[in-house]
Amino acid sequence: MKEKKFLGKIRQDPWESLAKGPREVMASLWQEYLQEILNATQKSKRYQTVRRQIEEKADFPEMYRQWNDLDVEARAAAWKRLITAAKDVLWAGWETCVRCGECCELSSPTLLAPDLALFQKEILTWNEVYTLRPGEQVTNREGKPETLREERLKIREVPGSHQCWFYQAATNSCRIYDDRPEQCRRQECWGEETPELDTAELLNRETLLAGVPEVWDLVTAHQERGGLDRVGRALKNLEASPEAAGEALFDALHFDHYLRQMLQEEWELSPAATEFILGRPLTQFLKDHGINATLTPEGTFRLLPRSD
Ligand code: SF4
Ligand code: SF4
Repeated sequence: MKEKKFLGKIRQDPWESLAKGPREVMASLWQEYLQEILNATQKSKRYQTVRRQIEEKADFPEMYRQWNDLDVEARAAAWKRLITAAKDVLWAGWETCVRCGECCELSSPTLLAPDLALFQKEILTWNEVYTLRPGEQVTNREGKPETLREERLKIREVPGSHQCWFYQAATNSCRIYDDRPEQCRRQECWGEETPELDTAELLNRETLLAGVPEVWDLVTAHQERGGLDRVGRALKNLEASPEAAGEALFDALHFDHYLRQMLQEEWELSPAATEFILGRPLTQFLKDHGINATLTPEGTFRLLPRSD
Protein backbone atom coordinates (compact mmCIF):
# COMPACT_ATOMS: atom_id res chain seq x y z
CA MET A 1 0.00 0.00 0.00
CA LYS A 2 1.40 3.38 -1.00
CA GLU A 3 1.78 5.62 2.05
CA LYS A 4 0.18 9.04 1.60
CA LYS A 5 1.63 12.19 3.02
CA PHE A 6 -0.57 13.26 5.88
CA LEU A 7 -0.27 17.00 6.36
CA GLY A 8 -2.68 17.44 9.26
CA LYS A 9 -3.88 20.86 8.12
CA ILE A 10 -5.79 22.28 5.20
CA ARG A 11 -5.05 25.96 5.38
CA GLN A 12 -1.70 27.64 5.61
CA ASP A 13 -2.57 28.78 9.10
CA PRO A 14 -5.84 27.62 10.59
CA TRP A 15 -4.40 28.11 14.01
CA GLU A 16 -5.41 31.74 14.40
CA SER A 17 -9.04 30.79 13.81
CA LEU A 18 -8.69 27.86 16.18
CA ALA A 19 -7.00 29.95 18.87
CA LYS A 20 -9.56 32.76 18.80
CA GLY A 21 -12.72 31.31 17.32
CA PRO A 22 -15.67 29.75 19.12
CA ARG A 23 -16.47 26.04 19.00
CA GLU A 24 -18.50 26.47 15.77
CA VAL A 25 -15.41 27.71 13.92
CA MET A 26 -13.38 24.79 15.23
CA ALA A 27 -16.09 22.33 14.13
CA SER A 28 -16.27 23.92 10.69
CA LEU A 29 -12.46 23.73 10.29
CA TRP A 30 -12.53 20.12 11.35
CA GLN A 31 -15.20 19.23 8.79
CA GLU A 32 -13.41 21.15 6.04
CA TYR A 33 -10.19 19.39 6.92
CA LEU A 34 -11.71 15.91 6.85
CA GLN A 35 -13.54 16.59 3.59
CA GLU A 36 -10.30 17.58 1.90
CA ILE A 37 -8.36 14.64 3.29
CA LEU A 38 -11.01 12.13 2.24
CA ASN A 39 -11.83 13.82 -1.04
CA ALA A 40 -15.49 13.07 -0.30
CA THR A 41 -18.51 15.28 0.23
CA GLN A 42 -19.89 15.70 3.72
CA LYS A 43 -23.09 14.01 2.61
CA SER A 44 -21.31 10.83 1.54
CA LYS A 45 -21.61 7.90 3.86
CA ARG A 46 -17.88 7.29 3.63
CA TYR A 47 -17.26 10.74 5.08
CA GLN A 48 -19.86 10.26 7.78
CA THR A 49 -18.57 6.83 8.80
CA VAL A 50 -14.94 7.92 9.02
CA ARG A 51 -15.91 11.09 10.88
CA ARG A 52 -17.90 9.11 13.43
CA GLN A 53 -14.97 6.76 14.04
CA ILE A 54 -12.51 9.63 14.53
CA GLU A 55 -14.81 11.66 16.74
CA GLU A 56 -15.47 8.69 18.98
CA LYS A 57 -11.75 8.04 19.30
CA ALA A 58 -10.96 11.68 20.14
CA ASP A 59 -14.04 12.22 22.36
CA PHE A 60 -15.04 15.08 20.11
CA PRO A 61 -18.36 15.88 21.88
CA GLU A 62 -16.45 16.67 25.08
CA MET A 63 -13.85 18.70 23.17
CA TYR A 64 -16.66 20.65 21.49
CA ARG A 65 -18.44 21.23 24.81
CA GLN A 66 -15.32 22.60 26.52
CA TRP A 67 -13.82 24.49 23.57
CA ASN A 68 -14.94 28.05 24.41
CA ASP A 69 -13.47 27.77 27.92
CA LEU A 70 -10.09 26.38 26.87
CA ASP A 71 -6.99 28.56 26.81
CA VAL A 72 -4.73 28.59 23.74
CA GLU A 73 -2.45 25.78 24.97
CA ALA A 74 -5.40 23.55 25.85
CA ARG A 75 -6.95 24.20 22.44
CA ALA A 76 -3.69 23.25 20.75
CA ALA A 77 -3.55 20.01 22.73
CA ALA A 78 -7.20 19.19 21.98
CA TRP A 79 -6.78 19.87 18.25
CA LYS A 80 -3.66 17.71 18.21
CA ARG A 81 -5.57 14.86 19.85
CA LEU A 82 -8.24 15.15 17.16
CA ILE A 83 -5.70 15.15 14.34
CA THR A 84 -3.83 12.22 15.89
CA ALA A 85 -7.09 10.25 16.09
CA ALA A 86 -7.76 11.13 12.43
CA LYS A 87 -4.32 9.94 11.47
CA ASP A 88 -4.78 6.65 13.36
CA VAL A 89 -8.19 5.96 11.82
CA LEU A 90 -7.26 7.04 8.31
CA TRP A 91 -3.92 5.29 8.21
CA ALA A 92 -5.50 2.12 9.54
CA GLY A 93 -8.20 2.27 6.88
CA TRP A 94 -6.54 4.32 4.13
CA GLU A 95 -7.74 3.15 0.75
CA THR A 96 -9.91 0.48 2.23
CA CYS A 97 -13.65 0.09 2.32
CA VAL A 98 -15.06 1.57 5.54
CA ARG A 99 -18.29 -0.43 5.01
CA CYS A 100 -20.51 2.64 4.91
CA GLY A 101 -22.96 0.87 2.56
CA GLU A 102 -23.35 3.74 0.09
CA CYS A 103 -22.57 1.60 -2.97
CA CYS A 104 -24.87 -1.17 -1.66
CA GLU A 105 -27.76 1.31 -1.61
CA LEU A 106 -27.09 2.48 -5.16
CA SER A 107 -27.11 -0.90 -6.92
CA SER A 108 -26.59 -4.62 -6.54
CA PRO A 109 -23.54 -6.38 -7.97
CA THR A 110 -23.31 -8.12 -11.32
CA LEU A 111 -21.89 -11.62 -10.86
CA LEU A 112 -18.52 -12.58 -12.28
CA ALA A 113 -16.84 -15.94 -12.89
CA PRO A 114 -15.31 -16.23 -9.36
CA ASP A 115 -18.83 -15.95 -7.91
CA LEU A 116 -19.58 -19.48 -9.10
CA ALA A 117 -18.03 -20.57 -5.78
CA LEU A 118 -20.82 -18.74 -3.91
CA PHE A 119 -23.40 -21.04 -5.51
CA GLN A 120 -21.28 -24.07 -4.70
CA LYS A 121 -21.15 -22.93 -1.05
CA GLU A 122 -24.92 -22.19 -1.17
CA ILE A 123 -24.35 -18.58 -0.12
CA LEU A 124 -26.29 -17.75 -3.29
CA THR A 125 -29.26 -19.73 -4.60
CA TRP A 126 -31.62 -19.25 -7.56
CA ASN A 127 -33.80 -17.14 -5.27
CA GLU A 128 -31.32 -14.32 -4.71
CA VAL A 129 -30.24 -13.76 -8.31
CA TYR A 130 -32.02 -12.61 -11.44
CA THR A 131 -31.07 -12.63 -15.09
CA LEU A 132 -30.86 -9.70 -17.46
CA ARG A 133 -30.98 -11.05 -21.01
CA PRO A 134 -29.31 -9.53 -24.10
CA GLY A 135 -31.64 -6.86 -25.42
CA GLU A 136 -32.73 -5.60 -21.96
CA GLN A 137 -32.68 -1.86 -21.38
CA VAL A 138 -30.56 -0.88 -18.38
CA THR A 139 -29.22 2.40 -17.03
CA ASN A 140 -25.46 2.67 -17.38
CA ARG A 141 -23.06 4.27 -14.92
CA GLU A 142 -23.52 7.67 -16.53
CA GLY A 143 -27.25 7.35 -15.90
CA LYS A 144 -28.05 6.87 -19.61
CA PRO A 145 -30.20 4.05 -21.02
CA GLU A 146 -28.23 1.26 -22.66
CA THR A 147 -29.22 -1.98 -24.39
CA LEU A 148 -27.38 -5.02 -23.08
CA ARG A 149 -25.43 -7.08 -25.59
CA GLU A 150 -24.64 -9.92 -23.26
CA GLU A 151 -26.38 -11.76 -20.45
CA ARG A 152 -25.83 -10.61 -16.87
CA LEU A 153 -26.70 -12.20 -13.56
CA LYS A 154 -27.36 -9.78 -10.76
CA ILE A 155 -28.14 -10.00 -7.07
CA ARG A 156 -31.80 -9.09 -6.55
CA GLU A 157 -32.72 -5.61 -5.38
CA VAL A 158 -35.08 -4.63 -2.58
CA PRO A 159 -38.43 -4.03 -4.35
CA GLY A 160 -39.03 -0.40 -5.25
CA SER A 161 -35.36 0.54 -4.88
CA HIS A 162 -31.93 -0.20 -6.32
CA GLN A 163 -30.67 -1.37 -2.94
CA CYS A 164 -28.91 -4.72 -2.86
CA TRP A 165 -30.97 -7.56 -1.39
CA PHE A 166 -28.24 -8.40 1.12
CA TYR A 167 -27.84 -4.89 2.50
CA GLN A 168 -29.33 -4.21 5.92
CA ALA A 169 -29.96 -0.49 6.10
CA ALA A 170 -30.76 -0.46 9.82
CA THR A 171 -27.30 -1.72 10.73
CA ASN A 172 -25.40 -0.48 7.65
CA SER A 173 -24.22 -4.02 7.05
CA CYS A 174 -24.03 -6.73 4.43
CA ARG A 175 -25.56 -10.09 5.33
CA ILE A 176 -22.89 -11.95 3.33
CA TYR A 177 -19.91 -9.60 3.78
CA ASP A 178 -17.30 -12.34 4.24
CA ASP A 179 -18.64 -14.04 1.10
CA ARG A 180 -19.59 -10.94 -0.89
CA PRO A 181 -19.44 -11.12 -4.69
CA GLU A 182 -16.32 -10.25 -6.63
CA GLN A 183 -17.66 -6.93 -7.90
CA CYS A 184 -18.22 -5.76 -4.30
CA ARG A 185 -14.65 -6.73 -3.43
CA ARG A 186 -13.35 -4.68 -6.35
CA GLN A 187 -15.41 -1.60 -5.49
CA GLU A 188 -13.03 1.23 -4.56
CA CYS A 189 -15.05 4.38 -4.18
CA TRP A 190 -11.99 6.34 -3.04
CA GLY A 191 -9.80 5.68 -6.06
CA GLU A 192 -9.89 6.17 -9.79
CA GLU A 193 -13.18 5.30 -11.45
CA THR A 194 -13.75 1.53 -11.29
CA PRO A 195 -12.92 0.10 -14.75
CA GLU A 196 -15.70 -1.19 -17.02
CA LEU A 197 -16.56 -4.85 -16.50
CA ASP A 198 -14.74 -7.18 -18.85
CA THR A 199 -17.62 -9.05 -20.50
CA ALA A 200 -15.47 -12.20 -20.77
CA GLU A 201 -15.60 -12.38 -16.96
CA LEU A 202 -19.39 -12.34 -16.65
CA LEU A 203 -21.02 -15.33 -15.00
CA ASN A 204 -23.99 -16.64 -16.99
CA ARG A 205 -26.81 -19.17 -16.75
CA GLU A 206 -25.08 -21.65 -19.01
CA THR A 207 -22.21 -22.05 -16.52
CA LEU A 208 -24.69 -22.66 -13.72
CA LEU A 209 -27.34 -24.71 -15.51
CA ALA A 210 -25.69 -26.64 -18.32
CA GLY A 211 -25.18 -29.52 -15.88
CA VAL A 212 -28.94 -29.66 -15.22
CA PRO A 213 -30.23 -30.63 -18.71
CA GLU A 214 -33.95 -30.58 -17.84
CA VAL A 215 -33.60 -26.91 -16.81
CA TRP A 216 -31.13 -25.90 -19.51
CA ASP A 217 -33.43 -27.33 -22.23
CA LEU A 218 -36.20 -25.04 -20.96
CA VAL A 219 -33.85 -22.05 -21.02
CA THR A 220 -32.86 -22.69 -24.65
CA ALA A 221 -36.48 -23.31 -25.74
CA HIS A 222 -37.51 -20.07 -24.02
CA GLN A 223 -34.68 -18.25 -25.75
CA GLU A 224 -35.86 -19.52 -29.16
CA ARG A 225 -39.51 -18.54 -28.75
CA GLY A 226 -39.32 -15.70 -26.25
CA GLY A 227 -35.84 -14.29 -26.95
CA LEU A 228 -35.66 -10.51 -26.80
CA ASP A 229 -34.09 -10.34 -30.27
CA ARG A 230 -37.24 -12.01 -31.71
CA VAL A 231 -39.55 -9.79 -29.64
CA GLY A 232 -37.55 -6.69 -30.52
CA ARG A 233 -37.84 -7.51 -34.27
CA ALA A 234 -41.59 -8.04 -33.91
CA LEU A 235 -41.96 -4.66 -32.20
CA LYS A 236 -40.08 -2.96 -35.04
CA ASN A 237 -42.23 -4.70 -37.67
CA LEU A 238 -45.58 -4.04 -36.00
CA GLU A 239 -46.43 -1.22 -38.39
CA ALA A 240 -45.04 -2.70 -41.61
CA SER A 241 -46.33 -6.28 -41.10
CA PRO A 242 -48.85 -6.14 -38.25
CA GLU A 243 -50.17 -9.68 -38.72
CA ALA A 244 -46.84 -11.54 -38.72
CA ALA A 245 -45.33 -9.28 -36.06
CA GLY A 246 -48.42 -9.58 -33.85
CA GLU A 247 -48.39 -13.36 -34.17
CA ALA A 248 -44.71 -13.56 -33.12
CA LEU A 249 -45.37 -11.21 -30.22
CA PHE A 250 -48.37 -13.13 -28.88
CA ASP A 251 -46.58 -16.45 -29.30
CA ALA A 252 -43.59 -15.20 -27.30
CA LEU A 253 -45.82 -13.66 -24.62
CA HIS A 254 -47.91 -16.79 -24.12
CA PHE A 255 -44.91 -19.09 -24.07
CA ASP A 256 -43.14 -16.87 -21.54
CA HIS A 257 -46.24 -16.64 -19.32
CA TYR A 258 -47.20 -20.32 -19.31
CA LEU A 259 -43.63 -21.52 -18.86
CA ARG A 260 -43.32 -19.38 -15.71
CA GLN A 261 -46.66 -20.68 -14.51
CA MET A 262 -45.54 -24.26 -15.07
CA LEU A 263 -42.27 -23.70 -13.16
CA GLN A 264 -44.18 -22.29 -10.20
CA GLU A 265 -47.16 -24.64 -10.12
CA GLU A 266 -45.62 -27.94 -11.19
CA TRP A 267 -41.97 -27.52 -10.19
CA GLU A 268 -42.92 -25.43 -7.14
CA LEU A 269 -40.24 -22.82 -7.82
CA SER A 270 -40.57 -19.31 -6.40
CA PRO A 271 -41.33 -16.36 -8.73
CA ALA A 272 -37.80 -15.14 -7.87
CA ALA A 273 -36.25 -18.40 -9.10
CA THR A 274 -38.16 -18.12 -12.41
CA GLU A 275 -36.59 -14.67 -12.90
CA PHE A 276 -33.23 -16.34 -12.62
CA ILE A 277 -34.06 -19.26 -14.98
CA LEU A 278 -36.00 -17.26 -17.60
CA GLY A 279 -35.01 -13.66 -16.92
CA ARG A 280 -37.53 -10.92 -16.18
CA PRO A 281 -41.06 -11.49 -17.53
CA LEU A 282 -41.65 -10.41 -21.12
CA THR A 283 -44.46 -8.14 -19.91
CA GLN A 284 -41.78 -6.11 -18.11
CA PHE A 285 -39.69 -5.84 -21.28
CA LEU A 286 -42.74 -4.61 -23.22
CA LYS A 287 -43.53 -2.13 -20.47
CA ASP A 288 -40.01 -0.70 -20.84
CA HIS A 289 -40.91 -0.26 -24.54
CA GLY A 290 -44.14 1.58 -23.85
CA ILE A 291 -46.61 -1.33 -24.10
CA ASN A 292 -48.85 -2.74 -21.37
CA ALA A 293 -49.54 -6.45 -21.91
CA THR A 294 -52.38 -7.64 -19.70
CA LEU A 295 -53.79 -11.13 -19.42
CA THR A 296 -57.55 -11.35 -19.96
CA PRO A 297 -59.78 -13.78 -18.02
CA GLU A 298 -59.87 -15.89 -21.21
CA GLY A 299 -56.11 -16.45 -20.87
CA THR A 300 -54.98 -14.34 -23.82
CA PHE A 301 -52.94 -11.17 -23.82
CA ARG A 302 -54.23 -7.72 -24.69
CA LEU A 303 -51.69 -5.08 -25.76
CA LEU A 304 -52.25 -1.39 -25.12
CA PRO A 305 -49.95 1.64 -25.27
CA ARG A 306 -48.64 2.39 -21.82
CA SER A 307 -50.49 5.31 -20.29
CA ASP A 308 -48.68 5.86 -16.96
S1 SF4 B 1 -16.73 0.77 -1.33
FE1 SF4 B 1 -18.91 1.13 -0.89
S2 SF4 B 1 -19.20 0.45 1.24
FE2 SF4 B 1 -16.97 0.70 0.90
S3 SF4 B 1 -16.50 2.78 1.61
FE3 SF4 B 1 -16.92 2.87 -0.61
S4 SF4 B 1 -19.12 3.37 -0.82
FE4 SF4 B 1 -18.75 2.66 1.30
S1 SF4 C 1 -23.52 -8.13 -1.56
FE1 SF4 C 1 -23.07 -7.02 0.34
S2 SF4 C 1 -21.31 -5.73 -0.14
FE2 SF4 C 1 -22.21 -6.38 -2.09
S3 SF4 C 1 -23.66 -4.74 -2.67
FE3 SF4 C 1 -24.79 -6.32 -1.55
S4 SF4 C 1 -24.80 -5.61 0.59
FE4 SF4 C 1 -23.16 -4.51 -0.48
